[in-house]
Amino acid sequence: MKIAVFGTGSVGQALATRLAGLSHSVTMGTRNVETTLVRETKDFHGTPAVAEFVTANLSIPLKSYAEAAVGAEVIVLATKGDGSQAALEASGNIDGKIILDISNPLDFSKGFPPTLFISNDNSLGEVLQNAFPNSHVVKTLNTMWAGLMVNPRMIEEDHTVFVSGNDAAAKATVKGILNSFGWKDSEVLDLGDITTARGSESMLPIWLRIFGATQNGAFNFKIVAAKPA
Ligand code: NAP
Repeated sequence: MKIAVFGTGSVGQALATRLAGLSHSVTMGTRNVETTLVRETKDFHGTPAVAEFVTANLSIPLKSYAEAAVGAEVIVLATKGDGSQAALEASGNIDGKIILDISNPLDFSKGFPPTLFISNDNSLGEVLQNAFPNSHVVKTLNTMWAGLMVNPRMIEEDHTVFVSGNDAAAKATVKGILNSFGWKDSEVLDLGDITTARGSESMLPIWLRIFGATQNGAFNFKIVAAKPA
């Protein structure tokens, strides 16, 4: 499949590398290629500078959002939440494309831990779906650390990845990608239409507190239930 990964941070780098390793044709999208390539500082997660990533991954060209999206069936949206809509707006006509949305509506303006700039009766996933009604937004993977998204078997026992989206075929394609990363069918919990992204995006405040308490981001949520009587 031809896949555009929008985002050069730890999530974009993890997804792009894993997808390319699975023989997909992957391009990475950024706002401005020249500016991004001269940025030297590592991010909060210690992610390598993009120039370093590009040199180490010659099969993954870095392009503008618009150029990266050309011909892509799937856009992986690994952009800062408040830049997600702008990134899609910059990408030209994305009608019919699947938007695998990992972004979270985090507001860091008042420091750490961030708050949510959309919550309760709306979600970033819905905002994007409403802004691009002819694309198929599927929210997933946003409730865990980037390393775990693409290598779920780092945790020996079963754990849970949520999926939200309106289009059954788009969700099936996304579930296929999740399976190829190592997610078992039984670990993929389809919450329903894109309004259910309100639930998974609202898990970020507790994710951040668990990280604060344990200082270990390589954990995940696992849904367990009693057997019906
Ligand atoms: P990030 O720092 O949140 O985002 C970096 C990307 O966002 C860069 O590619 C940047 O573009 C783009 N961006 C920032 N502002 C923009 C704007 N105004 N318009 C267009 N693009 C803009 O990186 P991240 O940590 O990899 O996270 C990516 C997304 O995944 C976030 O929404 C985050 O909440 C979510 N997430 C992250 C993790 C994790 O483990 N880090 C886990 C779960 C979910 P340039 O390349 O042009 O700088």
